[in-house]
Amino acid sequence: MAIKNNFLNRRSFILGSSLAFTGVAKVFSKNTANKSHIVVLGGGWGGLSAAKTLRLMNKNCKITLIEKNKKFVSCPMSNWVIGQLINMKNITFDYKKFKKNNDIDIIFDQVTSINVEKKIISTSEITLKYDKLILSPGIKLDFSDIDGFSGSPNNSIFSAWKAGNETQNFSNEIRNIENGDNIIISIPLSPYRCPPGPYERTSLIADYIKKNKINAKVIVLDANQKIVSKGLLFKKAWNELYKNIIFYYSDSQIRAIAYKENKVFTDFEEYHYKTLNIIPPQKAPSLLFKAGLIEKGRNWAPVNPYDFTSKYYKDIYIIGDSTDASSVGSVPKSGYVAYSMGKVAGLASFYHLLEKEPPAPSMINTCYSLVSQTEGISVSAVYKFNKKKNKIVTVANASGLSPKRSNLIALNAWDWALAIWKDMLT
Ligand SMILES: Cc1cc2nc3c(=O)[nH]c(=O)nc-3n(C[C@H](O)[C@H](O)[C@H](O)COP(=O)(O)OP(=O)(O)OC[C@H]3O[C@@H](n4cnc5c(N)ncnc54)[C@H](O)[C@@H]3O)c2cc1C
Repeated sequence: MAIKNNFLNRRSFILGSSLAFTGVAKVFSKNTANKSHIVVLGGGWGGLSAAKTLRLMNKNCKITLIEKNKKFVSCPMSNWVIGQLINMKNITFDYKKFKKNNDIDIIFDQVTSINVEKKIISTSEITLKYDKLILSPGIKLDFSDIDGFSGSPNNSIFSAWKAGNETQNFSNEIRNIENGDNIIISIPLSPYRCPPGPYERTSLIADYIKKNKINAKVIVLDANQKIVSKGLLFKKAWNELYKNIIFYYSDSQIRAIAYKENKVFTDFEEYHYKTLNIIPPQKAPSLLFKAGLIEKGRNWAPVNPYDFTSKYYKDIYIIGDSTDASSVGSVPKSGYVAYSMGKVAGLASFYHLLEKEPPAPSMINTCYSLVSQTEGISVSAVYKFNKKKNKIVTVANASGLSPKRSNLIALNAWDWALAIWKDMLT
């Protein structure tokens, strides 16, 4: 009953995402679909959204979600923890309501292999057979190109690019900044998870330094030629608010580290740090390579952008940050996009189980960033499927940047997080 009510409540939302589903009632009772087993890997932004969407459409099929962590810790808003605005409790949730309200089995374990031919997914403890498999495992952080990195003393270098203990440790370091300290943030070449994320992090650390009148610097070593998202808005905020705090260097990739001297090296310069935040290059997790879902020499999983099925296996859907933008189209690696892809894949799997063609997808993304405790900036886009290009494309005149930073956008950012967490996790 709870599911039925939920379905009605959410129906308008899904319709609002242009995922029209006509004739649902007629096909709903098909036995094969109802007896199917759909396994979802990843209880993050894509996986939760996909599992829930499928459940809203079909209340009888068996859905199993496999997630290695018992708690969901949100990357969106984790920069706010590092900037001392909120704490870990505010971004940490359990899966109890999600499991109960949606009648989805959850297995807390690490998936170790996928046999795509036999349609089997395994952890070290269990093996499950699936009819459809939805994969949203996020990213792998790759530090291998940084000379000397492997000698890292415990807990002293943070990426904090997967929210969790490192977010807390980095936040503790920021709380203890002292006069004369340098905080270095390094940004990898795009594409990486959350294009504006490193710049928001920089802003919030600078805001904390400024508010507390500490004589410290944030040095940003960006491997890209320029700020990759909301560049003009970030630059304006940094010039006006943090002139002697933020020092930004483009085209500056960290090549080596000397821990003993607290130094990092780019191709031309060396920098001394007190706190080092390396956001390393990223790729899809190794599991997807091992399963044969990614070609040698590529970093991300190719998919059909109409329904997010794998380019190689029609019963496997891949969504979220793991997907290859060159096959999907011009969407960023964001939580909101992963959540939108989850809706598309959840609905597509429902149609495919009925051996029907799903409707053409449409997705949305809004990405908020704080530039200080009280002011934010945002970028929004609406996407649709373009048949001729066989890609997801941005809808003209329905997308854009906020004209300037504002207090209202900062408030909207928090409201967005509360709303989307509630939708995913209950
Ligand atoms: C600092 C920061 C700020 C951000 N801010 C925003 C923002 O404001 N707005 C926004 O839209 N996006 C934001 N993002 C981006 C967003 O977090 C990601 O794009 C999103 O999490 C991608 O969703 P996903 O489902 O692909 O991966 P994830 O959310 O990472 O989910 C993957 C899940 O799979 C699990 N998993 C992986 N491998 C296995 C395995 N082998 N076995 C079992 N479980 C496994 C993981 O534990 C994880 O829970 C931010 C990211 C960062 C780092």
